[in-house]
Amino acid sequence: MIFNKIEDFKHVLKASKQIIITTHKNPDGDAIGSSLALHLFLQNMGLNSKVIVPNDYPEFLKWLPGQASILKFEDDKETCANYIKEADLIFALDYNAFHRTGDLEPFLENSSAKKVMIDHHQQPDDFAKFTFSNPEMSSTCEMIYHFISSLNELKLINKEIATCIYVGIMTDTGSFRYRSTTATTHHVIAELINKGADNTKIHNSVFDANSFNRLQLLGTALTNLKILPEYNAAYISLSQNELNEFDYKKGDTEGFVNYALSINKCVLAAIFIEDEKNKIIKISLRSKGDFSVNELSRKHFEGGGHNNAAGGKSNDSLEKTIERFISILPEYKTALQNEV
Ligand code: 5GP
Ligand code: MN
Repeated sequence: MIFNKIEDFKHVLKASKQIIITTHKNPDGDAIGSSLALHLFLQNMGLNSKVIVPNDYPEFLKWLPGQASILKFEDDKETCANYIKEADLIFALDYNAFHRTGDLEPFLENSSAKKVMIDHHQQPDDFAKFTFSNPEMSSTCEMIYHFISSLNELKLINKEIATCIYVGIMTDTGSFRYRSTTATTHHVIAELINKGADNTKIHNSVFDANSFNRLQLLGTALTNLKILPEYNAAYISLSQNELNEFDYKKGDTEGFVNYALSINKCVLAAIFIEDEKNKIIKISLRSKGDFSVNELSRKHFEGGGHNNAAGGKSNDSLEKTIERFISILPEYKTALQNEV
């Protein structure tokens, strides 16, 4: 259904000489997994592609098949800009608006290449010739599987591609527990295991790769955890000093916000992380049930995402941002209480 223009697309794909695969800033498991899966799949189709990401990604993803070939725009702007300029087809994976790609944005906007979006975020922008968007999908990785299936090329999925797709589905579904996880998601996972994805090894590589410092930082995050029982809300804060104390590395705070959400009756959870370099407070929001953090983040924190997982930012100080967060909660009090 979502791949309704697939026949037209097939012609465009096969005629493409320079294909570039892009994803959002601060790439996560779904972003990197879908980009590499598509790259390896195109390679198996005999097509030439390159993966360009805006900036670095977490250590716990630096074992994925093909990841060594990823080009980081922040490390080599000129080379990446040239590749984008020469491209005739650009994939936009796991994002719905160019501004989500950070410093890549102007280069994508100025490129004359045909764009193809494969994404599961709400309210996609209209920049692509082919927009494959489905907010009900668990992950962009699951969409990549259905996309390959629509092209009648499932036979080209090997162990490496299956592994990349598995990682993105696993990380975006909180290990198959979020509401977006369907029976179809599990069927896809079963097929990926049939294709050679080693589920135990994948889980270990992503989740049992903690550094001592990361666990100490988690200790500080949990010490800073505050609850707001009248709003069924909880939040965590981490200052730049606290991050420095434990030698913060990209990805170290991944999943911390879920500890706040795991509190009994918690419907809304937030984490506020100070980022001195970019002079912002990065915010991650999580919710349960029908309470939409996508809407809350769009309205108050220049962000967005999904109903139950969204991100945003604030230009205020850490203290001011938290004050502002608490001050908007009365607006949502009834909605938050209705979820319990
Ligand atoms: P996280 O909190 O794990 O960084 O992101 C949760 C979800 O929200 C992801 O789907 C991510 O793509 C999206 N997201 C994170 N930060 C932003 C942001 O600043 N703007 C928008 N529009 N979406 C975001
Ligand atoms: Mn995703």
